[in-house]
Formats: sequence, structure tokens, C-alpha cells
Amino acid sequence: LKARLSDPDLLRTQAYLGGEWVDADSGETHDVINPANGGTLATVPHLGRAEVARAIALAEAAQKDWAARTAKERAGMLRRWYDLIMENQEDLAVILTAEMGKPLAEARGEIGYGASFIEWFAEEAKRIYGETIPGHQADKRITVIKQPIGVAAAITPWNFPNAMITRKAAPALAAGCAFIVRPAESTPLSALALGELADRAGLPKGILSVVTSGHGGASDIGKEFCENHAVRKLSFTGSTAVGRILLRQAADQVMKCSMELGGNAPFIVFDDADVDAAVEGAIICKFRNNGQTCVCANRIYVQDGVYDAFAKKLAEKLATMKVGDGMEDGVAFGPLINEAAVAKVEEHVADAVAKGGTVAMGGARMGNDGTFFEPTIVTDATSDMLFAHDETFGPLAPLFRFTDEDEVIALANDTIFGLASYFYAKDLSRVYKVAEALEYGIVGVNTGIISTEVAPFGGVKQSGLGREGSHHGIEDYLEMKYICMTV
Ligand code: ADP
Repeated sequence: LKARLSDPDLLRTQAYLGGEWVDADSGETHDVINPANGGTLATVPHLGRAEVARAIALAEAAQKDWAARTAKERAGMLRRWYDLIMENQEDLAVILTAEMGKPLAEARGEIGYGASFIEWFAEEAKRIYGETIPGHQADKRITVIKQPIGVAAAITPWNFPNAMITRKAAPALAAGCAFIVRPAESTPLSALALGELADRAGLPKGILSVVTSGHGGASDIGKEFCENHAVRKLSFTGSTAVGRILLRQAADQVMKCSMELGGNAPFIVFDDADVDAAVEGAIICKFRNNGQTCVCANRIYVQDGVYDAFAKKLAEKLATMKVGDGMEDGVAFGPLINEAAVAKVEEHVADAVAKGGTVAMGGARMGNDGTFFEPTIVTDATSDMLFAHDETFGPLAPLFRFTDEDEVIALANDTIFGLASYFYAKDLSRVYKVAEALEYGIVGVNTGIISTEVAPFGGVKQSGLGREGSHHGIEDYLEMKYICMTV
């Protein structure tokens, strides 16, 4: 991997703790695997609670000075970090593809997307405005100021090894918090490269730490984050199951939490939709990252009148797209992250077939090396099938047939999740009605792409708490203080 990088120093294999590169106290390491071929890319330290406690202490010591700087100064440093990331976009993309598997073109896109949060929040740092409120008595003056929460800790997933970190780190640092991240065990190298560039950008020591650990190490680090009194904020992106555990743990300290959890996105195609555009949208939002995003369409509902045409066009388009090692030219779909991910898609296909579904395309894993799976379409999907209630997180598009608008709204909302939803239609009153009726934090209308740093990303119901991105995103890292003065 090092040989492929124009700047080999971006491949960091030690943890970044308080501005220093360190190994685990125990000397233990964890292997980082290339999912395209099963080979070992690097080893990183398997840190325990003691090292994480040190990172927290260093963060606490550095945070007050960071918060006391002018917003312009913090913004300037964040901007330098952004510039360095963009200057090294290609190397960062190569590292990302190597450890995560997504095609290089998508990895480049993620680096740009991830960096955009740093650019955005560097700008927002200067706009953390307070408020004055007319006093409740003649001699009273009321002011509201906003201050950084303090030390913020984050736990992030492997599906966006770069952007899920910057989306949290950027608002935290812009607000004046110190930030510690524990990246997913599968994808620590992208996180460490971000640490290297933050170091080069001149971020003060202790303000940013990247604490790595292997399988089974996450729960210890999660406990340290939740039980250490210096940590005042926890931000997590991952499964609802782990989110619940962390919320329970965080309750003992009444810690502020932001949670970006699972989704089960419906994607609805109405009879009046532009079917070609809907197929394009479905390809992007079902198959991007090989179906491994929490905003990926999981259930595709297609109205009677366009069902067959949509299914045919989707299959035709998918047949032109190549599966393979993400480093190769022209590859649209890389490997899945690991064997468990393959097993889940296989389980969803088998369950659908047992319950009367038809595999219209794909349906099986590919080759003996790596964790590749064919782009798959299941027609005649029904609500009793596993994927109707559980995120597949893989390249499986189940097509459900429906006739009635109210019926499909009820089906779409029949889930504990509420992150992203999508629909295609032209009738204006239908567009408004459906957009308002969908119980989701995000609705894509005639589009399959909704992610941008300028808009608030987040879910309702059991998909999470808080919003990331947009001018709202920084609020999650700020406390409001009300000052009441007698004059
Ligand atoms: P995914 O299916 O995306 O891996 P998870 O919720 O299992 O979703 O994992 C998201 C992140 O949470 C990963 O970095 C993982 O290591 C971490 N994690 C898993 N279990 C725990 C736990 N008990 N406490 C803290 N972090 C955890």
C-alpha cells in the first residue's frame, strides 16, 4: 500500500494521542485487512482504557485554551486541515479503498465530501451567535451565550471511514471542543491519515486524538468515554443496537449524545414518475457503496403501472456495471466489508425465496477471494420478508408492488427507523402530501442523493438523535448559557 502513495508518511500505523504517535501499553496490535483479497495491509495498536483515559486527560488540558482562541484562529487552522486533505485527496482515497473496498472514484468522492464538513464548519465557527431577550423586569437584562461543551468523544463506523469522522470532528473543533475518535476496527488507517494531516495543519496537541483498537476493543473504549467525567459529549454513528448500549451507558453521567443509527429507507416510485430518472436514482441510492450506507434504499416500492418497466430497466442498467477490486478501473461495485456482511445478504435472499420472492438478477456471492456479491434484484417482495424490517446493508434491491398512495405511505412508515426516504412522482399535490407524511428525518424527492454538508442529516424514531451538517450541526457541540443581570 505504501508504494502506491505519493506521500508514504500518510500511512500511519500508530495511534495519535495528544499530538504523539504511540503504541499500545500492552504492545498488542490489530490487523487491518483488505476486503478485496483478504490480505493484511497494516497493523495498528490495540489500545485499552488506560491509553484512552490519557487521551481524554490531554484533551481536557488542551480544550480551554482552544476554546479561548478567537473563532477566526480556530477557523484558520481548520481551513488549513481542509486544504491539506484536498491536496492529498488521491492518497487518502487509495488508503480508503484499500481498507474498505469501495471503488477508488467513490473513495475520492468521499474524501471531498468529508473535507467539505471541515470547510463548512470552519466558516460556521465565526457565526456562533448568542441572543438578547427583553427582560422580564424593568431592571433585568437577559443574554444567552453559546459555549463549547468541552471534551467530545466519537465512535465511528467503517462504511465512510473518512466522512463519518470529519462530520463530527469539524463541528466539535469549530465550536471549541477537544475531540477524540475511536474509528471502526476495519478502517483505522483513514482516521490516522486525518490525524497526520491535522498535525501538519498545526492543531494544538491534545485537541484531536485518534484511538485505535481491534475487535472487542470497542466496548472498553466506549465504557471509558461514558464513565470518564471529563467527557461531556458522545457522538456515535453505527447500528441502533450499539447506539442503545451507549445511550444506557451515557445515562449514568447524563452525557449529551448525538446518535446516527440504522435506517430502513423506503424508495417509492409512483405511476407518474419519470421511470428512467427513478432507475438512475435507485442505482445511486441502493447500490452506492454496494448498499452499505445507512441512507441506502432498503425497500423499493413500485406502483403497479410502472412496476415491470422499472424492474426491467433497473436490471438492464445493473448488468452494465462491473464488480471487482475497487482499485481497478471501471469498477462500480467493490467487495462487501467482511464475511458477515456477505452472510447477511445471502440470508435475506434465501428468506425472500422461501417466502415466494423471485430472484430476477444476481443472488449469489462471486469468486473465492474477497467478499464480492452480485448486484441482486428480488421481485414479488412482500412485507413478511426479512428485508422489509431489517437493513440488508448489501447490493440487494427488493421490489415491492403497490397500488394505492395511502397504502404505500403506511408501508413506508411501518418501521422503527426514520432516517432517509425517497420517492419519485410529478404530481405537485402528491409530492407535498407524501413528503409531509413520511416519518423520516430526510426525504429525497426525485433524487437519490441527499448528502451534503449544507443540509441537516439525521433521523427520527430509532434512527437517532441530533443532526450533522448545516448550521444546525454545530449546535450539538454547544451549550447555551443564560445570563440574567440586574442593572
Ligand atoms: P456496523 O454494523 O456499522 O459495524 P456497529 O454499531 O456494530 O455497526 O459498529 C459501529 C461502531 O461501533 C464500530 O466502530 C464498532 O467497533 C463500535 N462498537 C461496537 N460495539 C460497541 C460497544 N459495545 N461500545 C462501543 N462501540 C462499539
